[in-house]
Amino acid sequence: MITGKTKLLGVIGSPIEHSLSPVMHNAAIAQLGIDYAYLPFSIKPENLSTAIAGFEAIGIQGFNVTIPHKQAIMPLLAKVSPLAQAVGAVNTVWRTEQGWQGTNTDVAGFLAPLKALKQNWAQTTAVVLGNGGAARAVVAACAELKCATVWVIGRDRQKLQDFQQSWQNSPLTVNLQTSVWQDLPQLLPTTGLIVNTTPTGMHPHVDQSPVVSEMFNSLQSGTIAYDLIYNPRPTLFLQQAAQHGAITLDGLEMLVQQGAAALALWLEQPVPVDVMRQALQEYLAQQSEP
Ligand code: NAP
Repeated sequence: MITGKTKLLGVIGSPIEHSLSPVMHNAAIAQLGIDYAYLPFSIKPENLSTAIAGFEAIGIQGFNVTIPHKQAIMPLLAKVSPLAQAVGAVNTVWRTEQGWQGTNTDVAGFLAPLKALKQNWAQTTAVVLGNGGAARAVVAACAELKCATVWVIGRDRQKLQDFQQSWQNSPLTVNLQTSVWQDLPQLLPTTGLIVNTTPTGMHPHVDQSPVVSEMFNSLQSGTIAYDLIYNPRPTLFLQQAAQHGAITLDGLEMLVQQGAAALALWLEQPVPVDVMRQALQEYLAQQSEP
């Protein structure tokens, strides 16, 4: 029930209609029985600073940030966590007496299912497909795991060079290498973790994969294939990796865990992760019905 005391949370982005965050956060809010609501806000880049000032004025408690605002929001905040600075992106903002404070929960979200595997990562070469925003969170996560080497694969040499340079003054220690897609066949036999951060294979393009199936022939058994995409589940990339003996992880748990970490920050209390996961699974299942 919305009351005169209802506190507001939300997510900003453009477009925002596709966001699944309201589904999982409002399910958690209902389960906790607290007087909160979580809303999507479509905010164009040119309106970002006005919107944030408006959020301050109307007393919004906290909000998530998605494309295209994850970097642009940073100068508008009173404080940005060292992790978010290292990643170069904020996805969670909350209110403090000093003003808005931001951090990045995508890194923790990405790490959660990997940490559950309880591996020693010190010998692991990770291969990250794509060099966009999500790839930055994945590289930070690989730094936290202390992976031996992280290869980032992209299609634009200038973007790869910029990506590499952006980590040079980072407080995170990572042996980062970049390369183009043509070099992927040489890298695959050495990798223990391959992560798809490109949108290739995402609904409705479910018959696409960033990796040609035959390339998986050279995969070491037990390699972890991780796709950040959560629709479909599994993607063609994960299906083919599994056929070649890989352990597979899709993007749903990352989505759930980054959301749970954000909600726990706002509410300063434990949150029902299982309820958030179930709400998303049910919603996605409904969406895929003909
Ligand atoms: P982004 O910043 O736009 O980056 C996408 C990257 O993929 C870019 O490096 C882009 O290359 C590359 N790419 C796009 N199409 C490609 C193609 N056909 N072939 C090769 N490379 C291609 O997007 P993002 O924010 O990183 O998100 C990427 C994916 O991760 C999306 O599918 C998103 O849904 C998913 N994601 C999931 C979660 C989760 O919680 N599970 C969180 C964040 C993101 P160029 O730079 O050369 O264009």
